[in-house]
Amino acid sequence: MAALTLADVTKVFSDGSDDAVIAVDGVDMEIRDGEFLVLVGPSGCGKSTTLRMIAGLESVTQGEIRLGDRRINDVAPADRNIAMVFQSYALYPHMTVRENMSFGLEESTGMADAEVAATVEESASMMGIEELLDRKPSDLSGGQQQRVALGRAIVRDPEAFLMDEPLSNLDAKLRATMRTELQRIQEELGVTTVYVTHDQTEAMTMGDRIAVLDEGVLQQVGTPLECYHEPANRFVAGFIGEPSMNFFDVERQGTRLVADRFDYPLSEATHAALGDTTELALGIRPEDIELVGEPGDHAFETVVDVVEPMGDANACYLTFDRSGTDPETFVATVGGMQQVEAGQPAVAHLPESAIHLFDRATGEALR
Ligand code: ATP
Repeated sequence: MAALTLADVTKVFSDGSDDAVIAVDGVDMEIRDGEFLVLVGPSGCGKSTTLRMIAGLESVTQGEIRLGDRRINDVAPADRNIAMVFQSYALYPHMTVRENMSFGLEESTGMADAEVAATVEESASMMGIEELLDRKPSDLSGGQQQRVALGRAIVRDPEAFLMDEPLSNLDAKLRATMRTELQRIQEELGVTTVYVTHDQTEAMTMGDRIAVLDEGVLQQVGTPLECYHEPANRFVAGFIGEPSMNFFDVERQGTRLVADRFDYPLSEATHAALGDTTELALGIRPEDIELVGEPGDHAFETVVDVVEPMGDANACYLTFDRSGTDPETFVATVGGMQQVEAGQPAVAHLPESAIHLFDRATGEALR
């Protein structure tokens, strides 16, 4: 096994005209030996391109990719000892599962026939697909095909796994099962893994660490909880978490934050953390807003606009002015037992310990 290092990795797609696309922009990160790293970000942010450069399916415009101590920029994909699993499974339709898994194994590893057969059986058992070895892909469900694709990656005993949205074609229930299974297998094998998804739930639940990408630029690398509780900037704060963090534009006047609809006094410590910045965004997660108590310094009178049941909790959309044609709302999640009804007044408490403050110009988190 080996660590994977990306040093200042950049990819520019250019067709010779003026409109070159910088798909990946100076990405620096190290995926530790045996780590499960989830690369997450919105559509078009450069996730697949990053993965394809690691796999060797796309050239690197600038920077260096290392697997262990080895620079692999110019190593052919087949010689990188990296296995990739795609969303589309990419199985050979005319081959059986066994043939799909063993295809090319003899040539690439020099294993004898019997050894290939035994390795395939072992990987198949790990994926729970022993019964399917003699079937063709067309006779398998989507979930089974994905297991075969994973089995085919495992059988190669690679130094790293790359997975590009491998579960996105499966239904929600199967996806949840496969998520835990993938984690189990990755842990068992201890293979350095980069897993691409745009689904932040997958990112939060699967990765040892997550790397958040936006417009080709790496925004933050951290454990899921670090990215959740200490987002480096407004983008990460808004991307991680469901429902998303609420943001209010505020202006700092002395030791107060002044928003359109409320004034928010700051403690000395928070005030000091903000330096000279005056144009800020105040962020607060829906679950950190409390709908209890009386109006006060950090508690404001609002009206419940819409209540959306989420199972064990309700997403409660609040507004300062429900009479407008398009009332601006923010969302609080409250326990399912708490009585909240559309049209009713509610006092929203935004505890100072829970607020995040961002420089509105740069997006950088100041607190
Ligand atoms: P998605 O989640 O939608 O797959 P992504 O985050 O994986 O998106 P990429 O597929 O890596 O994003 O694309 C990043 C950017 O590079 C996009 O703007 C895309 O249009 C562009 N791009 C990708 N491949 C090419 C290519 N072969 N030629 C030109 N531009 C490309």
